Amino acid sequence: MSNAPILLTPGPLTTSIRTRQAMLVDWGSWDRDFNQLTASVCEQLLAIIDGSASHHCVPLQGSGTFAVEAAIGTLVPRDGKVLVLINGAYGQRLAKICKVLGRTFSTFETAEDQPTTAADVDRLLAADPAVTHVALIHCETSTGILNPLAEIAQVIKDHGKRLIIDAMSSFGALPIDAREIPFEALIAASGKCLEGVPGMGFVFAEKAALAAAEGNAHSLAMDLHDQHAYMAKTGQWRFTPPTHVVAALHEALQQYNEEGGLPARHQRYADNCKALLDGMAAIGLRSFLPAEIQAPIIVTFHAPKDARYQFKDFYERVKAKGFILYPGKLTQVETFRVGCIGVVGAAGMQAAVNAVAQVLREMEVLDI
Ligand SMILES: *Cc1c(COP(=O)(O)O)cnc(C)c1O
Repeated sequence: MSNAPILLTPGPLTTSIRTRQAMLVDWGSWDRDFNQLTASVCEQLLAIIDGSASHHCVPLQGSGTFAVEAAIGTLVPRDGKVLVLINGAYGQRLAKICKVLGRTFSTFETAEDQPTTAADVDRLLAADPAVTHVALIHCETSTGILNPLAEIAQVIKDHGKRLIIDAMSSFGALPIDAREIPFEALIAASGKCLEGVPGMGFVFAEKAALAAAEGNAHSLAMDLHDQHAYMAKTGQWRFTPPTHVVAALHEALQQYNEEGGLPARHQRYADNCKALLDGMAAIGLRSFLPAEIQAPIIVTFHAPKDARYQFKDFYERVKAKGFILYPGKLTQVETFRVGCIGVVGAAGMQAAVNAVAQVLREMEVLDI
């Protein structure tokens, strides 16, 4: 499918032919070769955060949210309390997970263009000693805003509390070093900045915390302690693994390393983001976030104010020119989003901008 559109969406995203071809083999879930594939994937994932001394990598079947839910359900004891830091839809989802799991929680919400600060967290933890865990979204994908992870993590450590990071859309592209940033758990997934296909999440869990988490989980399938214990003993996944997804991720990791690992992936996405922002600015489209807090992962743009602009029509016309965009996720302002991640470079981003410009001319949208 050479004429398949380029996905400028932050997962699923455009993958390489090599990654897709890695799915043409069937694997036995009990087979030594597949177990080695799983072990190699986990080892490579841990290496990205320099976490092999401090953390276990526990993979889990399902989309990213499954892994987030599993991390909270496994690591937060039933009598724990979570402080959830929110500035967008994925932060809201964290709070909802706590609610559904029956964990006590409080929330702190800032505007969607306002990062949470370390000073906020310092004040909140001083005011509520009952909090045991803080849950933070690193890059809030609903806008593309970056929260100051290192500073917040330090404050949480100073208070003797534990940090759970949803780094789903930043892991692999933005540097996170487990030797420098204290955290109990960090969650990501196959189908984002590693450019694998969707279908599995993984949780880096502090070894001592995971060992102490037996019996916390409310759910059998979502119990990361059990998943890890079984995998450590047998080398196998506890229940049917997403074999093709694991194989694709293994292949995607190989390409990640060939490209130059995290610094190279970060640079390519930063170049993509710059090409996108510059190109859109040149045709009059404004981004929602100021540059200082914009992560090079996904960009939110204000929709044109012209009555002739309708997202659905715009989307279909841009798709016909080869690019899949993403709807906005803000409640107050009309926006649309464009991802900077996946197998695409700055020339591809410029081509997407050209397609957007052409479409707006076709739609006779003038007021942008
Ligand atoms: C993609 C993403 C998730 C997981 O979403 P799924 O649809 O379950 O894969 C969670 N948090 C953030 C910040 C994300 O970008």
